[in-house]
Amino acid sequence: MAAEHPMEVSYSAFYSPSPEAVRKGLQAWHAALAQFDKAAHMLEASGHPLKKGLIEFLRRPKRELIVNFPVQMDDGSIRMFTGYRVHHNAVRGPTKGGIRYHPDVTLEEVRALAMWMTWKCALVNIPYGGAKGGVAVDPAKLSPRELERLTRRYATEISLLMHPGGDVPAPDVGTNPQIMAWIMDTYSMHTGFTQPAVVTGKPLEIGGTLGRVEATGRGVMMVVAEALKLHKIPMEQATIAIQGFGNVGSYAALTAYQMGARVVAVSDVHGGIYNPEGLDIPRLMEHVRQHRTVRGFPEAEPITNMELLALKVDVLIPAALENQITAENAPNVQARILAEGANGPTTPEADEILIEKGVFIVPDILCNAGGVVASYFEWVQDLQSFFWTEEEINSRMERILRRAFYEVLAKEEELRRYGLKPGDYRTAAQALAIWRVAQATLIRGIYP
Ligand code: GLU
Repeated sequence: MAAEHPMEVSYSAFYSPSPEAVRKGLQAWHAALAQFDKAAHMLEASGHPLKKGLIEFLRRPKRELIVNFPVQMDDGSIRMFTGYRVHHNAVRGPTKGGIRYHPDVTLEEVRALAMWMTWKCALVNIPYGGAKGGVAVDPAKLSPRELERLTRRYATEISLLMHPGGDVPAPDVGTNPQIMAWIMDTYSMHTGFTQPAVVTGKPLEIGGTLGRVEATGRGVMMVVAEALKLHKIPMEQATIAIQGFGNVGSYAALTAYQMGARVVAVSDVHGGIYNPEGLDIPRLMEHVRQHRTVRGFPEAEPITNMELLALKVDVLIPAALENQITAENAPNVQARILAEGANGPTTPEADEILIEKGVFIVPDILCNAGGVVASYFEWVQDLQSFFWTEEEINSRMERILRRAFYEVLAKEEELRRYGLKPGDYRTAAQALAIWRVAQATLIRGIYP
């Protein structure tokens, strides 16, 4: 087709995300922009206007890199892959954000995730800008050696943008500490000396931090604990349903279990399980280690993902991908608290419906910020070559998340006086974050 119609050659002539992936990526990016516009509008309404040009600056990514690269497969064949690294904003410090391996990764999705990282870091007030990266690949379909070669080549391709003081990647969906180790090693080999601070989420043995693996899920439960207090629901009586049982979902479940809450349902891509008495999470984690899915766990009934989202529970934690709670299924949500472990799980249309229903939404940039906060601690420890105890990590993280939580509540209360819908904590959180980045931009000045 492309050869017959040269004028129609688009970027898909070189790499071809499925139409579904393109649609999902655009949906995420449009959601990020719609959220931003709403927050900028509320800033204006509340007497904190941003100049038009500044708004344009904050809406746009600073730089975007697309890389097409070959990987030698175990059978000797060569396969082309496409990856991305997007720096959304670097005003408050080095850009920070994970690397995603997923078949549906597109530039638009990575761009949306990078923008959310900017607001997340600003909201919890750590000195970082926002970035994200990704490769369109299903890591489960690669052998360990292929995964290593892909990672080392991708790291090499984006090393133009990586730097311990400039852009610091981390894990995200489909990546893990081993992959971070290969990135660290690849970068260090290029520069000739070991540079642990170029990436976070590394194994402990090579400059990782205590508590990083658990941090995102643990952080989710730290803010859920505050939200439950606000609703006067004792932790021991709280029921929780979790969509996704990857790094975020599984450690949110484990922390909830340790805190005494009842995790009644969890799901993964293969389906879900339900037990109204509460699931034994340590045993479930063991089951998942053996079977690679939550399905088939004894003492639980099967449940679909859609049924899980509609359960009557105190807390619903979407901890999978974007665009899960939509205008179609939001009316069915019965949870009192929606704690966004994933980035962008709720569409703007669903947001409206949930706010109307009185669901207390703990927005992603607050709810899942424990991950990047622990990453920040890892980076600081690497730069100083001086390591902290897990107690120090967790207590410092809790202080940061709790402060951000109450700052968001206060901002929501303030913005309500200027027309914010009561309960729109997402817009309050983004307004706080955007204002911080805007102020930093103005103080630095526009170069030259
Ligand atoms: N990928 C995680 C996130 O979405 C962590 C990013 C980081 O630690 O830099 O927040």
